[in-house]
Amino acid sequence: MEFELPDGRKLTLPETATGADAAAAIGPGLARAALAVKLDGQVRDLARPLADGGDTDGGTRRRLEILTERSGHEALELIRHDAAHVLAEAVMELYPGVKISIGPPIENGFYYDFDFPDGTTLGEDDFERIEARMREHIAADEPFTREDVPTAAAIERFGDEHQDYKVQLIEDLIRDQGVETVSLYTNGPFTDLCRGPHGPSTKRIGAFKLQNVAGAYWRGDASNPMLTRVYGTAFFSKRELAEFLERLERARANDHRRLGPQLGLFTFSDVAPGSAFWLPAGTEVFNALVTLSREMGRERGYLEVKTPQLYDSSLWVTSGHWDKYGGNMFVTEYEDRAMAIKPMNCPGHCQLYALGRHSYRDLPLRYWEPGLLHRREPSGTLHGLLRVRHFAQDDSHIFCTEDQIQEEVAAALDFAFATYDVFGLDVRLELSTRPEQRIGADELWDKSEAALMKALELQGLPYELSEGEGAFYGPKIDMHITDSLGRSWQLGTVQLDYNMPERFGLIYTGADNAEHQPVMIHRALMGSYERFIGILLEHFAGELPVWLTAVQAIVLPIADRHLEYAQSVQARLRAARLRAEVDGRGESVGRKIRDAELRKIPYMLVVGDREQESDQVAVREHRRGDEGTAGVEAFLERLADEVRTRALA
Ligand SMILES: [Zn+2]
Ligand SMILES: [Zn+2]
Repeated sequence: MEFELPDGRKLTLPETATGADAAAAIGPGLARAALAVKLDGQVRDLARPLADGGDTDGGTRRRLEILTERSGHEALELIRHDAAHVLAEAVMELYPGVKISIGPPIENGFYYDFDFPDGTTLGEDDFERIEARMREHIAADEPFTREDVPTAAAIERFGDEHQDYKVQLIEDLIRDQGVETVSLYTNGPFTDLCRGPHGPSTKRIGAFKLQNVAGAYWRGDASNPMLTRVYGTAFFSKRELAEFLERLERARANDHRRLGPQLGLFTFSDVAPGSAFWLPAGTEVFNALVTLSREMGRERGYLEVKTPQLYDSSLWVTSGHWDKYGGNMFVTEYEDRAMAIKPMNCPGHCQLYALGRHSYRDLPLRYWEPGLLHRREPSGTLHGLLRVRHFAQDDSHIFCTEDQIQEEVAAALDFAFATYDVFGLDVRLELSTRPEQRIGADELWDKSEAALMKALELQGLPYELSEGEGAFYGPKIDMHITDSLGRSWQLGTVQLDYNMPERFGLIYTGADNAEHQPVMIHRALMGSYERFIGILLEHFAGELPVWLTAVQAIVLPIADRHLEYAQSVQARLRAARLRAEVDGRGESVGRKIRDAELRKIPYMLVVGDREQESDQVAVREHRRGDEGTAGVEAFLERLADEVRTRALA
């Protein structure tokens, strides 16, 4: 058998060779470091023969890679899956009669679902005991061995052990996939029904921690019994685990769902699931972002429009949404007409374009609308401001001629870079091509994919290709940013669309006096304002830049006799369109400062006798402390300047 290694070298092995043999043939160091192999992209146990895996057709040379601790996510996934088995092993020993269901690796760790006998519960207090037992099994260096057995034998085995969930899983496999054998993995005294793959032995789990307990329905179905899900994570080293836990702790402290109510920005209620209630302070933040989009758009020739919320179904049929996107829309009926609330602004903007007459001289025509949208999102997927049913996007649709595509896409990307720059965020680009569910002829897709690619290449912009991830009406360039906690978020998008203009019969009169069809570019930069605010709150740990924050300065009178002066300072700040408050409570100034710090207000202006007499304020900056006194006018100019330039702290 011949294989090709990642560095292009050839490796020839006998027909009976396993993954472990391959590693040993490359070198003794690699044999020790090996965790698994990757054969034509498929991760497999070291112990399995190579002959029966990968792309065996055509006799072409197969690609072989040895996975070690340095192989990144795939390697971590292996030991996390190993750790899930060790967790089940420990729980079964400590809780006789427990039934086990499934235990996969997940994005940042693993879980296992248990059904405890009546009267037994498991809480986070029990973790120490379980972890101690897990550590024993890891220290024992138990090898993972795989065995393929006929389904009948497996059912009998798990039936004897009263592991009903395992029996059900095997019955499902027989019914849904017609399997005749299933694989079992054994380490130490523990055997699990499992597809694998696994690392060679438990000792490779360098460091692990159980994290929390949650309820989870068997098969995710609320009509089934509720199981106990134990979450944990594992790494190759204690250092990596400690770093991960610290990042997690910071993310928890910066969680926008916590910061929002704490800073008085927004709140949620069960009477409107997935829809934020914006408090006055949050509304200031929201509006400041809308103003930013509006002002930057105006400078770039965008025209603000307002289009309806509720449309007759005929509009959605024309746009293709009824057919391809219907499941995401809230639908209603009135006077015998089916109607739907808009989930996107594009069809409304197409309709608006269609209502007028357009010459090539008018193009490009750039409509912008921070329109309110509603989308059906299942309750289980809702997540603070990040996943909502009701939101507004900084949404634009640019109608242009084919000749203008390159320039318009480049300008939209420039606009995006300028926007992210305001927040100090770096961007990564991704080009997404035609998805399976789509409208429009393949020739149109060829044309629009090529146009986007060319726009990126002409600008010399690096990008990743994401095949099949385009919108149903056209390919797109997505923009991703990385936040202060190292997490990646998709924000903006620029999408090219030949389809919708065609479906709406949009036209313009060309220089040749004939009718032509314009091309449409969809573009949103912040995405939804709701989600963007959620991301910014977490990125800035609640300390938004001064121009964006709800209360920019708070005046703190030392005693009641300074209240009037404090109010006059506030009035002058407000006259300069700055957002200022007065803390007129009868509390000590120390207490007022502490409270203002908790609210993360950037400037505290303390006023007493001395300040009052000299028309000054004692300036205190959030987290930085006292800055000394300043004249009211001088401070006001400084703050106004910071706001006008949208300075980052
Ligand atoms: Zn497993
Ligand atoms: Zn659109």
